[in-house]
Amino acid sequence: MKISTRAEILEILRMPEEEFRAAVMPQAYEEYLRRDGRLIVTSMLGYSNICRNQCLYCGMRAGNSGLTRYRIEPDDVIGAVRMAHDAGFSRVFLISGEDPKYGFDNLLRIVRELHGLGMFISLAAGELPEGGYDELAQAGVNEYVLKFEMSQREVFNRLNPSTDFDRRMADIAAVQRSGMLLASGNIIGYPGHTAEMCADDILLMKQLGISWAPVIPYLPAAGTPLAQEGGRGDLLMMLKEVAVLRLMMPEVRITAQQPGKDLKKGLADAEGNLDAVRAGANVLFCDLLPQAQARSFRVIDDRNVTGTEHIRRVAEVSGMTLSF
Ligand code: SF4
Repeated sequence: MKISTRAEILEILRMPEEEFRAAVMPQAYEEYLRRDGRLIVTSMLGYSNICRNQCLYCGMRAGNSGLTRYRIEPDDVIGAVRMAHDAGFSRVFLISGEDPKYGFDNLLRIVRELHGLGMFISLAAGELPEGGYDELAQAGVNEYVLKFEMSQREVFNRLNPSTDFDRRMADIAAVQRSGMLLASGNIIGYPGHTAEMCADDILLMKQLGISWAPVIPYLPAAGTPLAQEGGRGDLLMMLKEVAVLRLMMPEVRITAQQPGKDLKKGLADAEGNLDAVRAGANVLFCDLLPQAQARSFRVIDDRNVTGTEHIRRVAEVSGMTLSF
């Protein structure tokens, strides 16, 4: 199945569920099996949940006082990832709120150490001052994660009042100039997000030539302004986007750690993960955070990213092998 135009994307996004599951999902799954067929397991560490920004949808926004804030010391970050490396992981996703007080030099030191171990490093630390992306690339970051979240300028500007769309796109261009891979994508099904907007988001991902689509459906977070405007994003729309991305960009990595019907199971719902895998997604996470801090890394409520036992179960049921 060849998909390239906005009209072709929209046709799938508007398709009845039964037809989508019968006609599109199997093709997307086959496409991935033909290219690789393994589930990519990435260790993940949220090293700070402190953020100066006020994104209207995020549980870690600066204005959300109902959250215990933490920073993990650089030596502890290095120690945790070293243990993951010794356990066989070759990839790490380091993520934090936009927390300049963590210290850019600390971040560079962490990256140099982990690069020295031979880890593939993905990093999400928000928008940086000029030159920051180049320094990270030189220190050894392989991939920078900077989501555009929504491709409509006016919507982005309303939901991300601490920055603006033009700045975000300029920073995305700076990531690409630095030589790092770019991971980027949207939020699916937030209040007001339509199929047409989703099609435009998908086209922007294609245009940017992303390496990883860290996409997720909108899940309301307690204490956030957007939670007042509507409930969770449509799971079917998420599956359709995953399948379209797989068919349009066969090589891209796509997050499979997706929710299912039971929100309390968070992103560790085996049913949700498996559905995403069968739509062509292929990235699962193993959280390196201790339980208490994992609970406080609350971009969304009930994130529930768990350990390798869950991942092995998803692999077993899906019949895919794991790539660490
Ligand atoms: S989405 Fe990121 S930048 Fe925005 S408030 Fe949350 S942690 Fe901060």
